[in-house]
This record gives sequence, structure tokens and C-alpha cells, in this order.
Amino acid sequence: MQAIMRKLGLWISSGFPSQCLLCSCTLQSSMLCNSCQYDLPHVYGQNICQQCGLRSDSLSSFCGHCLSHPPAFSRSFIPFAYAYPLDNLIHKFKYRRHLTSGKLLSQLLADYLKHYAQEHDDWIAPDVIIPAPMHWLRRWQRGFNQAEVVGQHIARELAVPLETNIVERIHKTPAQKELTRSERQRNLRRAFKIADKYREKIVGKRIAIIDDVVTTTATVRELSKLLMTAGAADVQVWALARTMEK
Ligand SMILES: [Zn+2]
Ligand SMILES: [Zn+2]
Repeated sequence: MQAIMRKLGLWISSGFPSQCLLCSCTLQSSMLCNSCQYDLPHVYGQNICQQCGLRSDSLSSFCGHCLSHPPAFSRSFIPFAYAYPLDNLIHKFKYRRHLTSGKLLSQLLADYLKHYAQEHDDWIAPDVIIPAPMHWLRRWQRGFNQAEVVGQHIARELAVPLETNIVERIHKTPAQKELTRSERQRNLRRAFKIADKYREKIVGKRIAIIDDVVTTTATVRELSKLLMTAGAADVQVWALARTMEK
């Protein structure tokens, strides 16, 4: 935890607005003050299932549910619980298009991934990053796809190519947060499609799907199943935050 905080401190002093995005205290040149940085709902060091990202009592790296119902993605990297005050930043970014919050959140995820890569010799960077796609109508209504904005930043920071056209969302489903778990899963069946001309870009590739918040894993389960069925070698999930209630 100390090491990751120190690393985060490095970029945080590398220049930006002069107010903390959370408490509005005056800063020399950063987006977040040390105290707000520390108060973020980090999951680093906690017993977290490596696949679904939920807190787990299991001594294994995977929770009981993932062991009995394994998703098609091999693991997830999600640095935060979706909780106060991070939820406010995500809300500002997603629904009020506050791109500075988006930049801060993306950088926090990039630093988390870089830190993991430095600490683990078995880290293999993916061949391609694919942001969770949004239906064109929803994208038009919102004005942007937040997963794509995060993906662009991560792709630059980790020097991994980003592909936004490979997977398409073909059904405009109701907002997932209004649905129960089983409704979400049903709702998402056949919601995504891989255009035939892009299939060759997936075969044998290690793919990181990027999403903003993982809520039930329904979306990333469906997307990873589609990519693995199309011939991907491995799919991981990278996201900003995980809702922790089951
Ligand atoms: Zn602050
Ligand atoms: Zn799990």
C-alpha cells in the first residue's frame, strides 16, 4: 500500500489544476490531495477474488462462485470499491462529462496496472485493449463512451493498441442498474456482436476489456464469452471500480 501510494504521489505532483477534485483544498499542482488520495476506497491488499473482484473469505485466489461458475475472463484488475468518495468522481465523469475526473480516474487505474506489472514477473501485457461498447443511440445521448475515454488513456500509458470497432453493441438495452441480476444476464444475451471483418484481429490475441464500473459482471461475462468464442487466447477485465454488495 505504501509503495503504491508513493508511486501515485509521483504523477500527482506532475502538474494540473490547483484544487483537489474531492475536497477543493488548494494544491500546488495536482488533482487530488494526499489526504483524499489516502481516503479512496482502495482494495489493494484486501482478500479480493482475482476474477470477479469481490471481497472473498476463500483462501484461494478465486471465490466460491467463480470456482463453480467460472467466467470466460481469466482475471480482473479493479483498484477500487465503488464507494464514497470515488463514486462521486465516477458520477461526475459519466453523467456530467467532467473529463478532468475521467483523467484522474484513468490515471489511477493506469498506475495500479503499472505497479502490478512491476511487482509481478508473470505479468504479460495484453495485445489489445477493447473498451466495453455502448449502443450508438446511448452514446449519442451521452455524447461519449466513458469506457472508451478510460481506454484511450490506459492504451497511451501502457503502450497497448486500443480497438473500438471490433465489438459492437447491437441492442440498446435498458440501463442495467434498473434490473435484477438475472434480468441483466438475460438482457445482455446477444447484445454484442463482432463484425466478421474484424474476427482475425481477435484470434490468438490476449485482450483486456475496459469498463468503468463492474456491477454484476453480467456485461463483462457476456463480452468475454463472445471474445473467447471468437478465438481470443485470453480475456482480462480492467475497470475503475467494483460494486461490492452481492
Ligand atoms: Zn482533497
Ligand atoms: Zn469471484
